[in-house]
Amino acid sequence: MRCNYCEWRCDLNENKHGVCKMYYEEKGVIKERFPNRWCTCGISKIESIPFYHAYPGSKSMVIGTSSCNFDCRYCSNSYIAKEEPAKQQEGNYEFTPEELVRMAQKQRCHNIVFNVNEPTVSMPSLIEVSQAAKKAGMSMGCLTNAYMTEEASDIIASIFSFINISLKGMAAEFYREYIGIKDGQPILRNIKRLARTNHIEVTVPVIQTINDHELDEMAGFLAEIDRDIPFHVFRLLPEYKMKDCEYPSIDRINESLMLVREKLNYVYFHNFVGSDWVNTVCPDCGAEVIERLSLGCGGDRLTRFHCLDNHCQVCGREISLLGSKTDWNIEGVLL
Ligand code: SF4
Repeated sequence: MRCNYCEWRCDLNENKHGVCKMYYEEKGVIKERFPNRWCTCGISKIESIPFYHAYPGSKSMVIGTSSCNFDCRYCSNSYIAKEEPAKQQEGNYEFTPEELVRMAQKQRCHNIVFNVNEPTVSMPSLIEVSQAAKKAGMSMGCLTNAYMTEEASDIIASIFSFINISLKGMAAEFYREYIGIKDGQPILRNIKRLARTNHIEVTVPVIQTINDHELDEMAGFLAEIDRDIPFHVFRLLPEYKMKDCEYPSIDRINESLMLVREKLNYVYFHNFVGSDWVNTVCPDCGAEVIERLSLGCGGDRLTRFHCLDNHCQVCGREISLLGSKTDWNIEGVLL
């Protein structure tokens, strides 16, 4: 039986668990090998995940599972994504969806975000968590590589109200050599699909000399969908099979963002301490409408919020944001 969660469309049976090693087939049903097993249930500010335009300043409970359907040569989470998932389970937590939601409530989180690995490898558990979260009035978000099938992208759209898609490159050769898949066409298709129905942000893990020359093309692709899609250029410090690579130059990447900034309204460059490019600037009058602090290693913080009902306080232009800051207090707690 074929799994239709992602574009690998693996042939599964009792002993064949697919590329991600997370599923098996039993009596015509695709089942998870490790349902409701979580590698983390931590607390984070939403900016650190990163989401800059979804519920800014809110407090999130972050969750993840095991494995991945990609084999990125530079993976910074390889100890989770590439480790044999059965081996990881000893260290994972087992929580029912209701327990997870109760923990998020107890920690006074506004939302739950699946990050760390890839949601398509744990879909049934995530569907259940989203049902429990909906009952509790809590929204969910995720990070994803968007290599899901069209059918699965509809499920992802129904589980998560805000989605950060990792667009790793444009060229098929890049995907073959650095990610281990045929090409990125399904990802581009899913960005278009999900942008129609959900709040999306897009992140490029930029690796100098490997994909930085494609930033302009990526921005052009996104601009044709919606110039307001927040675009995060994430200065990746390659790990795993590329850990000997030179660290990317901030100045050089910033130079290649000049044209990108003309194409898109919200362009950010971060994952290093003290970045000057983490504030949201009104696309019309240039006023800084949201100020943030970049602490590096995904430690971003909202510091000042100058929007009024999601509009620039200087010129009145609407700023593209999911949720209003009035929904939670300054500590990021749901009111
Ligand atoms: S989710 Fe896993 S089993 Fe299903 S098609 Fe993708 S890699 Fe294969």
